[in-house]
Amino acid sequence: MRTLYVRIIITTMAIMIASAVIAFAAANIYYQQFLKPENDKKTVHIAENIIAIYENNNREPISDYLTAMTDLGYKFYLVKPDGEGQVYGDSFTSEQIDSEHVDSVLSGDTYHGIANFPWKPFVTGFFDNELKNTIGVPIEIAGETHALFVRPNTMQQFGEMRIFLAVLLVLALLFSFLLVLTSTRFIVNPIKKLTEATKKIAAGNYHVKLNVNRKDEIGRLANDFSKMSDSLEHTEEKRQEFISNVSHEIQSPLTSIQGFSRVLREEELPREIRERYLSIIENESKRLSALSKQLLTLSNLDQDLDKRDFIPFDVADQLKEVVSTMEWQLRERELAVEMSVHPATVIGDPKLLQQVWVNLLTNAIRYSEAGGKVTIQTASDKSAVHVSVKDTGIGIAENDISQLFDRFYKVDKARTRTENSTGLGLSIVKKIVELHDGTVLVESEPGIGSTFTVTLPAK
Ligand code: ADP
Repeated sequence: MRTLYVRIIITTMAIMIASAVIAFAAANIYYQQFLKPENDKKTVHIAENIIAIYENNNREPISDYLTAMTDLGYKFYLVKPDGEGQVYGDSFTSEQIDSEHVDSVLSGDTYHGIANFPWKPFVTGFFDNELKNTIGVPIEIAGETHALFVRPNTMQQFGEMRIFLAVLLVLALLFSFLLVLTSTRFIVNPIKKLTEATKKIAAGNYHVKLNVNRKDEIGRLANDFSKMSDSLEHTEEKRQEFISNVSHEIQSPLTSIQGFSRVLREEELPREIRERYLSIIENESKRLSALSKQLLTLSNLDQDLDKRDFIPFDVADQLKEVVSTMEWQLRERELAVEMSVHPATVIGDPKLLQQVWVNLLTNAIRYSEAGGKVTIQTASDKSAVHVSVKDTGIGIAENDISQLFDRFYKVDKARTRTENSTGLGLSIVKKIVELHDGTVLVESEPGIGSTFTVTLPAK
C-alpha cells in the first residue's frame, strides 16, 4: 500500500466487508436459535388450519384446493398412501426426504422439518427451499390418509422485499465507498500539506504558511508545526543578525588597524603622532581580543552547563576579591567604592559568577563620571541572595532598558567605541544568571545612575 490515502480506503472497505460477514453470521445464529422454532410452530399452525378448512368444506377436489392455497404464499407436496408425491406451487430445489419421515406422517404424526433443518453458515435456513425444510401433517382425503408437506413460498411472500433489501445493501455499500473516498481526502490532505512544509523547512525555507483550519489532532499538529517553523525562522534571523554583528564588530577595528599601520609605514611622522597611532592600534587589537574572548564565553554558555560542576561558596568573599582586583580602574576614574556585603552562600560555578560581577562593575566604572560612587550590596533571605551594583553614572533611558541584554546592543555607539565596549557584556551576565536559575533587574534614571540587581537562589 503506497499512500496513506489508499491504506485508509482499503482498511475501511475491509472493515465494512468483515462487519457485513460477521453481521450475517450473527443474524443466522439468531435465526437458528430463536426464529427457527417459532417459524416451525407458526407453519404447523397454518398447515393444520389449511387441513381443517379442507376437511370442513370437503367439496372441491384436493388439487384445486391446494392450487388455490398456493396463491396465499405457500407451497405444498402431497404424498399419496402409495408413496407417489405431487408438488403444488413453485418447485422445491430438492425433493429429497427420508421415506421414514413420509411414513410417520402417513401414520398420523407431524413432521418438524423446519425446526430440525441443519445449520449452514452462509444461508439462513429460512430461505432454504428444500422439501426437508417443511412441516408435514397427515390429511384425510376420500377416507385415506395422505401426507401434506407445507412451507412458506418465500419468493412469493418476500420477493419484492428481497429485491428491496438487496438494492438497499448495494446502494449503502456504494455510497459508503464514495463517502470514504471523499472523506479520506479530507483526512489525508492536511498531512500532505505538512509533508510538503517539512520538505521546505529541510531545504532551509522557514517561511511556511499552513492553511489547516481544524481543531482536531491534525489541526493541532499543523498549528504546532507553524509555531515551530516561526520559531526556526526567528532563530535563523537571529543567527544571521549575530553573524552580521560579529563581522561588523571585527571589521571596524581591522579597518582602523590597517589604516593606521599603512600611514605609519609610509609617512615620516612626529613622535607624538606616531605614539598616538600606535596606541590606537593597540587599543583596537585589545578590543578584538576582548571580542573574541566574549564570543568564546557566549558559545560555551550556549552549550548547556553541567550543573554537577556547581559548588557552594560565599558570594561576599568573591565580591571583595573582584573589587580589589579592579581597584586601580576605580582609582583611575576617581570613583569611590562603598561595600556592604554579608556572608551568603550560593551554589554555582564560581568562575562564571565572577565574570558576572566583573562585567557589572566594569560597566559601572565605564559609564560613570569622575567623582562618582559605586556601591556594592548584598541582601539575603530564606530563598534568595540579592547582589546589587549601583552607580551614580550616566544612567539609561527607559526605551533602551528592554534591549539592554540583547547581544551587541549599545546605547551610545560613539561613547562605547572609545570605551572598548562590545555590547556583549550584559548578554553574558544574563545568560550566566539564567543558567543559575536566577534573574537580573535594572533600575536606572538618566543623569542619576543605574542599579543592576542579580538574584540567585540561596543554598
Ligand atoms: P558594553 O558595555 O560592552 O557595550 P554591555 O552589554 O555590557 O556591553 O552593555 C550594553 C549597553 O548598556 C552599553 O553599551 C551601555 O550603553 C549600556 N550600559 C550598561 N551598563 C550601564 C551602566 N551601568 N550605566 C549606563 N549604561 C550602561
